[in-house]
Amino acid sequence: MKQVLIANRGEIALRIMRCCRDMGIGTVAVYSTADRELKHVRLADEAVCIGPPSSTDSYLNIPALISAAEITDADAIHPGYGFLSENADFAERVESSGFTFIGPSPGVIRLMGDKVSAIKEMISAGVPCVPGSDGPLGNDEKTNLALANKIGYPIIIKAAGGGGGRGMRVVRSDDELIDSIVLTKTEAGNVFNNDIVYMEKFLETPRHVEFQVLADTHGNAIHLGERDCSMQRRHQKVVEEAPAPGITEEQRAAIGERCVAACKRLGYRGAGTFEFLFENGEFYFIEMNTRVQVEHPVTEMITGVDIVKEQLRIAMGDPLTYKQENIKLNGHAFECRINAEDPETFMPSPGLIEQFHSPGGLGVRVDTHIYNGYKVPPNYDSMIGKLIAHGNSRESAMARMRGALSEVFITGIKTNIPLLSSIMQDENFAEGCTDIHYLEKKLGIS
Ligand code: ADP
Repeated sequence: MKQVLIANRGEIALRIMRCCRDMGIGTVAVYSTADRELKHVRLADEAVCIGPPSSTDSYLNIPALISAAEITDADAIHPGYGFLSENADFAERVESSGFTFIGPSPGVIRLMGDKVSAIKEMISAGVPCVPGSDGPLGNDEKTNLALANKIGYPIIIKAAGGGGGRGMRVVRSDDELIDSIVLTKTEAGNVFNNDIVYMEKFLETPRHVEFQVLADTHGNAIHLGERDCSMQRRHQKVVEEAPAPGITEEQRAAIGERCVAACKRLGYRGAGTFEFLFENGEFYFIEMNTRVQVEHPVTEMITGVDIVKEQLRIAMGDPLTYKQENIKLNGHAFECRINAEDPETFMPSPGLIEQFHSPGGLGVRVDTHIYNGYKVPPNYDSMIGKLIAHGNSRESAMARMRGALSEVFITGIKTNIPLLSSIMQDENFAEGCTDIHYLEKKLGIS
């Protein structure tokens, strides 16, 4: 691998570019006309404009991305997260055009992108799943009513092709069931172009706990422990941490080992995440993400493993640098997602950053593309950076995060720093083990 085209923008593009630079690999930046001033565009070896601001015409424009790879010296493409990162057609086009796709095979992306087939695979691999229909719902009303009663209300109807927290409906009694199935099916057909739906037990107060895995092309797979991402608003993660509070070493080893077994069964390649709901001491698989995640740094901080570097090595056909017994968890880490938004109304707040002072010091990491005079465009996700703090214990990592948050100084736009600070001061969060509804309840919106 000589040169990697980074099919993304913002902090993750910079993160990947820095990693390539460490490894002596060249980089190609691609950018929309709204993103000419992005930091990594200036620093990459080559840069290609791929279209106008709209994501559909630029970062989601497959022909433009392939052409950019063709006219430069790129021999591989890293999709980052979001955009085309879990699009099997894109991975296929990358490979059929003669480039290396830095991620799993198109077949595995497709398999795990369909939640019904993903759950079937997980059941076969012995990964614990939420009790449910274990397959698509048919049209027979009696069968569906019987199934819901067998699982026990409340249940949730979910779209096989759903994503981004959409395509789901909670049902609490027989009266609502049939209409809810029809409604979810119709919506799923319209939004995801796939009207297959399935049924699951609805867990009332779960935590979101996810396992990071790495698998190479030589049949090796390892897990890097888990993260807790329960602090969410509208299914969007706001704060993440690793390890998850209260998870025992035995639980970690048992679930981690199941995830590794699933990777081997799938012939998985690259970095991936198994997402679980965790309630009353039990794990329930909900979905797999076949890409690097926003919150990967908290795992890097406690394991010392550079996850992006492993992605690149795996794509080059190298074996994993680590064996499972080399993975030791060291201390605790938190990540706060910094968004350009009003901290009270959550309305996006794009515009000119007049001043930015970054925090620093031992155990503090700032992954961001912003700088003094950078103009946040209104066209994309409002996340402008991530603040990560590591400490020997959960308490010391939390104290360090509080300090780091107090140092961040951004003028010109509004940010969610006040919200992040209040989460870090929250007494219940300090105790650990808050569930996925905690933040919305705290904000008085649920
Ligand atoms: P998406 O791909 O849209 O993110 P997920 O299957 O990951 O969908 O679910 C998103 C969120 O919906 C979960 O993090 C959780 O908050 C909620 N959810 C999904 N399934 C269940 C369930 N069985 N019980 C309770 N909450 C659920």
